[in-house]
Amino acid sequence: MERILVLPGDGIGPEVVAEARRVLEVAADRFDLKLEFEDDLIGGASIDARNTPLSDAAIDRARGSRAVLLGAVGGPKWDAMPVDVRPEKGLLRIRKELGLFANLRPATVFPALVDASSLRREIVEGIDLLVVRELTGGIYFGEPRGNALVDGRREARNTMVYDEVEIARITRVAFESAQRRRKEVCHVHKANVLEVSQLWMTVVEEVASDFPDVELSHQLVDSMAMLLLREPGRYDVIVTGNLFGDILSDEAAMITGSLGMLPSASLGEGGVGLYEPVHGSAPDIAGQDAANPLAAILSAAMLLEHSLDAPDAANAVREAVSAVLADGHRTADIAGQSFDGPVTGCRAMGGLILARLGDA
Ligand code: NAD
Repeated sequence: MERILVLPGDGIGPEVVAEARRVLEVAADRFDLKLEFEDDLIGGASIDARNTPLSDAAIDRARGSRAVLLGAVGGPKWDAMPVDVRPEKGLLRIRKELGLFANLRPATVFPALVDASSLRREIVEGIDLLVVRELTGGIYFGEPRGNALVDGRREARNTMVYDEVEIARITRVAFESAQRRRKEVCHVHKANVLEVSQLWMTVVEEVASDFPDVELSHQLVDSMAMLLLREPGRYDVIVTGNLFGDILSDEAAMITGSLGMLPSASLGEGGVGLYEPVHGSAPDIAGQDAANPLAAILSAAMLLEHSLDAPDAANAVREAVSAVLADGHRTADIAGQSFDGPVTGCRAMGGLILARLGDA
């Protein structure tokens, strides 16, 4: 029996995660997987109930699970809280406690949604890339950091630091992912200015020699920001550090259309994977059955692939999503201006995916 910990979180989190969980249940039935689910709290919901954005008990439960399916955290109710007890701290803590150093963000264009992108159809068609971002190192965590008064002036400091072990393990994740895809890795850096990037260059090249079947290229981060808009279809797997990956993964994601379509996986050495939609808790539409559950459902597909070693089930979920979109069903966020049909709610969209998945 494989245990899945469900952390719905805040806002639309519970709505979209409920649909993703239903999809996992049907996929388990169809592909003969034995799953059991447990629920716990994260984010604002946990602050309200337990005065902490993530309890030790929830962490223990996560460690005892095969995978964690997470919704989203945050909302105006908790915006004024001190930084240490903000909902986002729950996310940072679970990533840290589970040692999740690799963040995988696919950016894929479903044929039915080509026109949802703000880029021209011919640029967007065929985009199928994966951003592999280092998640637990770099400037977001480096020491020294903080504020000081120096010669009467306010100063603030952060440190970008990586060691070779951190670089090598994320690079391996990228190359292994590429082996299951089109066998190309592009390393994104700023080696003309940063010593940290020069070390990345060296270590990435060393790891690459273990993967002779995968082609490696390097690209400066500023060029990459432009190239992703000009010819995104050119890239397969992009590997980079925490800061560059944070920015580029959002850019790559948005060229494909709506936030409501984007899944993610975070993997580590401990064997527990964390799967969550890229979007936030969308308080503006929470409780209205208006959220798009497809990002959460596609995150569940990543869970099937990476944590349960069930690529057939994962593909069946993705095909069900593709087929439902091709049939013309749209939640409000992906309806577009020319859409004249009735928009589908969150629960109903989940139901359509279930029906496809069960039938197929
Ligand atoms: P957001 O992603 O929640 O929403 C941005 C916009 O996209 C909103 O208009 C929202 O309605 C829409 N949207 C997002 N997901 C959607 C979906 N599935 N279906 C339809 N529309 C969707 O970002 P935000 O508004 O900047 O942040 C809201 C809250 O979420 C804040 O408290 C923020 O801190 C938090 N947040 C959490 C995460 C996370 O949990 N991983 C990520 C980003 C933001």
